[in-house]
Amino acid sequence: MDFAETDEHRLLREAVGDVAAQFGHRYYADAVRSGAKLDELWNAIGELGFLGVHLPEQYGGGGAGITELAIVCEEVATAGCPLLLILVSAAICAELIASFGTDEQRAEWLPSMAEGGKMAFAITEADAGSNTHRLHTTAVRDGDIYRLNGGKTFISGVDEAEQILVVVRTGTDEGSGRALLSLLIVDTASAGLESVLIPVEIASPEKQFTLFFDNVEVPVSRRLGDEGDGLRVVFHGLNPERITGAALCAGIGRYALSRAAVYATDRRVWDVPIGSHQGISHPLAEAKINLELARLMMLKAAWAHDHDGSSSIAAEASNMAKYAAAEAGYRCLDTAIQTHGGNGMTSEYGLADLWGLSRLLRIAPVSREMILNFVAQHTLSLPRSY
Ligand SMILES: Cc1cc2nc3c(=O)[nH]c(=O)nc-3n(C[C@H](O)[C@H](O)[C@H](O)COP(=O)(O)OP(=O)(O)OC[C@H]3O[C@@H](n4cnc5c(N)ncnc54)[C@H](O)[C@@H]3O)c2cc1C
Repeated sequence: MDFAETDEHRLLREAVGDVAAQFGHRYYADAVRSGAKLDELWNAIGELGFLGVHLPEQYGGGGAGITELAIVCEEVATAGCPLLLILVSAAICAELIASFGTDEQRAEWLPSMAEGGKMAFAITEADAGSNTHRLHTTAVRDGDIYRLNGGKTFISGVDEAEQILVVVRTGTDEGSGRALLSLLIVDTASAGLESVLIPVEIASPEKQFTLFFDNVEVPVSRRLGDEGDGLRVVFHGLNPERITGAALCAGIGRYALSRAAVYATDRRVWDVPIGSHQGISHPLAEAKINLELARLMMLKAAWAHDHDGSSSIAAEASNMAKYAAAEAGYRCLDTAIQTHGGNGMTSEYGLADLWGLSRLLRIAPVSREMILNFVAQHTLSLPRSY
């Protein structure tokens, strides 16, 4: 077992960090306030190939894995610019197309995604929630097209992406009554597709939308994987989503702690820096310990996924990493805010504006309760409660 980072990984971290540092949290916060997107940052890391680092070289990618994509995601967030769409577009959509797409589909979609082309991902439905088996958005085959009807909710980045990878019901298993799922690549500009902005209290440039599908026509050639095999396809995307989700949380945590360490060293209220009071230093040290534990599990999960994405160890570690990093990142941010006293709530110090996103990451892309369910059932073999 070797815990030393390879030279390649260290250089990748430094290269991504250098680019992201040119933007920094002020750029992120200003974009949020003005309603702008993070196009300059996204394009900068896209042009350097960082958003396609995990994609096959023959389609313009870097030929590496989720370990490297997690490094990209973490380092950009550590610079104060957490990019939610890396999870959605690069970690889920591009990864699924690379793994399940036909040669034609890979050739059509991956080269542009390797450079940062965006695709949204739509699975959540209002009435199904965390229960994917209850999805009701249907796709009915009509010759060489599918007709889509139904709706999705909380779909991120629909205003930025040209396509959405939509999880639909194409049948029902007669034995269990569960949905037989399929995945379709749908143009955001399709006739019959309406998107409505959902106001959320998260200071993030990425927006969420409710989608309404009214007889939307999608060519059968846009189906990813076999008809009815969508659950297996989606499951394959869960590890990358959870690992990069953990990376995003870890980056927020590192960003917050670095700000707190500087502030606690500089700020004097009595005769000594506030960081010399253990009431300040111990919570920061504890947050750091939890963060590093979560990062270890994240690296284990990424390693396991890159060696065998279908292994139970990859699934278990990905779930544990997402859980641990979401809790640790949130704790780091909260402790950093506390360290700053009143300044923690100001725009100038760039911490409180990340609270909503950090809080979200304990709910999405998978909630902490659903991860606890997974570990209870699969790791501890406890009876299923639902
Ligand atoms: C800002 C934002 C961005 C999002 N982006 C996307 C996106 O791009 N694409 C997409 O498809 N979705 C997206 N989502 C949806 C997100 O993935 C879901 O909100 C999340 O998975 C939780 O599902 P839910 O909201 O339906 O909660 P519910 O399933 O209704 O659950 C409500 C609560 O009950 C708990 N719960 C439910 N079932 C159980 C159980 N069996 N045991 C214990 N507790 C349980 C949950 O953990 C949760 O705390 C986004 C959501 C938000 C808020």
